[in-house]
Amino acid sequence: MKIGGFVKSSLIDYPGKVAAVIFTQGCNFRCPYCHNSHLVYPERFEEGISFEEILSFLEKRRGLIEGVVFCGGEPTLQEDLAEKILEVRSLGYAVKLDTNGSRPEILAEVLPFLDYLAMDIKAPFGPEYETVCGVKTDDRDVRRSMLLVRAAGVSYEFRTTVDPRFMPPGSVDRIRDVVGKNEAYHVREAVITER
Ligand code: SF4
Repeated sequence: MKIGGFVKSSLIDYPGKVAAVIFTQGCNFRCPYCHNSHLVYPERFEEGISFEEILSFLEKRRGLIEGVVFCGGEPTLQEDLAEKILEVRSLGYAVKLDTNGSRPEILAEVLPFLDYLAMDIKAPFGPEYETVCGVKTDDRDVRRSMLLVRAAGVSYEFRTTVDPRFMPPGSVDRIRDVVGKNEAYHVREAVITER
């Protein structure tokens, strides 16, 4: 696993839990509002942190930290994601995954080992989906991921970051049409900065 950052303790990344956060390197999307370019563009990657180092920290913090979040970048690009999740679980931690939902086959593999999942719905389904992602993509993968998540019996939320440059008024209402009334759905405004 390629890890570009690690936060030892966070109160905001895992609902209701004190959690450590592992930031994986690499993403298959290029969202124009992304603030994690050091985790997305290989030429901006910084020196990584070893997973062993993180495990050793987690071993010492058992009982003080309740959960571990895998986020990125896009964690499902990591070939050993399932293995690493299981290693963290074996220490007694709850595990949350943050994902853009573009890799349903990997999601299917790791869902049985998750306690919580947060998945992006970047835009209304249709041609604009890949405009918001910044790369050619197939939104059917995201739809498949939504179905998998719903069937998995794991706690989850869907979420959208609204970038008004690419999402006209009414976009969020169109996304709400594909999110169930009883499903957790969080919307936030993109913070646009010049790069
Ligand atoms: S999916 Fe997330 S990490 Fe990847 S480019 Fe978009 S905002 Fe950045």
